[in-house]
Amino acid sequence: MSLEGKTALVTGASRGIGRAIALALAREGADVAVNYREQAAGAEETAAAVRGQGLKAVAVQADVRDLAQVKAMFDQAKQALGGVHILVNNAGITRDNYLAFMSEAEWDEVVDTSLKGAFLCTKVASRLMTRAKWGRIINISSDAAFLGDMQRANYCAAKAGLLGLTRATARELAPYAITANAIAPGIIETDLTKALPDAKRAAMLGLIPLARFGQADDVAALAAFLASEAAAYITGQVFSVDGGLNL
Ligand code: NDP
Repeated sequence: MSLEGKTALVTGASRGIGRAIALALAREGADVAVNYREQAAGAEETAAAVRGQGLKAVAVQADVRDLAQVKAMFDQAKQALGGVHILVNNAGITRDNYLAFMSEAEWDEVVDTSLKGAFLCTKVASRLMTRAKWGRIINISSDAAFLGDMQRANYCAAKAGLLGLTRATARELAPYAITANAIAPGIIETDLTKALPDAKRAAMLGLIPLARFGQADDVAALAAFLASEAAAYITGQVFSVDGGLNL
């Protein structure tokens, strides 16, 4: 298995895409620190599934918007699993509203979770990875970064910001054999998309050439590849996983 001996930390891995990524990395042989904010039971379920594959796992609570909590999370992961070689910045939320009505709180919560959270985790992880002279950073952006989306100025801005963070990280950390790439999912069936109104879901389906919504495993497969040695020469890139939505 290509990730044998490596440890991954996946933010927002208590469910959805984060859980699928945690399990895909474990299938390749990585031990996994499973971050969550509130849903401890979900995180424990993910960790148990990783252990079920014969790997080590620990569930670590932290709000990625808070540097002290992020530092404590990395300390816990290091203590339990020995290090962090792969970071997946997956935690993200939506707080939809028309621009004119969007509150500062709705803006801040979304931008702070996706963008500031990724910055804080990357900042702490980069110290471990530069010392080890090896690392993989994978940021979960969104097609919304390219396409824009109604009532989602906060989300689109955060996800587009992540692409800049990815490129800056890739350049700065390349001398240490650390790669940074982004994945831009289209519409993936998770709790996040269950909340979309039926009319919007039907309209979106009509725009997808492969004529289906994505599954979390569609995204996880690419994350596992980008984390592997086979992807050592790929950095600073963004890849859509969207059934052709963004063509
Ligand atoms: P879910 O809503 O299913 O899961 C979100 C995860 O993020 C949960 O594990 C949640 O933890 C965690 N989380 C939220 N806020 C924080 C925080 N402040 N600190 C730590 N963890 C946090 O989302 P998805 O699986 O659908 O999405 C995962 C990522 O993929 C997100 O970044 C999303 O923007 C992106 N994406 C999703 C698409 C989709 O169609 N689903 C499309 C494009 C991008 P807890 O369970 O404890 O609350």
